[in-house]
Amino acid sequence: MYTVLDSSVFMNVNSLDHLDLTSSFYISENCYDEIKSTCSHLLSLLVKLNIVSPTSNSIKYIEETLKKIGETKLSSADKSALALALDLTQENKNVILLSDDFSVLNVASFCNIPSKSIKTKKKVKKRTYFFVCRACKNNNGVNNVECETCGFHLFFRKYR
Ligand SMILES: [Zn+2]
Repeated sequence: MYTVLDSSVFMNVNSLDHLDLTSSFYISENCYDEIKSTCSHLLSLLVKLNIVSPTSNSIKYIEETLKKIGETKLSSADKSALALALDLTQENKNVILLSDDFSVLNVASFCNIPSKSIKTKKKVKKRTYFFVCRACKNNNGVNNVECETCGFHLFFRKYR
């Protein structure tokens, strides 16, 4: 088993309960940089982490998926965790992406990356976002740059 950890896993003290210690643990370089600078790297002392950078192809694929579903809240570290999990999945490895972050888990389910929440046992329901103009209430779909009707640029984020 290959377990990919994102940064959020290191912020949650309950994470240890969810780790299969016989697994090989993977973390993206980007996520590792994020946890290194905080005291939350304690967990990284307990398990051996393989620090790997994802391929640019997978990053691109994740970014295209984000655009498609209107997900705008992911950091580059989040994206790299997803891309790394995607890389390992494509190598036919038995992968699970562990995260505390709903948005990360949501994108994982759109990319067919097996994932598990360290917060809830419930399966993540797929969520697609759309953006409604704050000025004219026009539904702009996944476009959150400029309202197609009135040109305004502030939106309510909603999901179906
Ligand atoms: Zn508008």
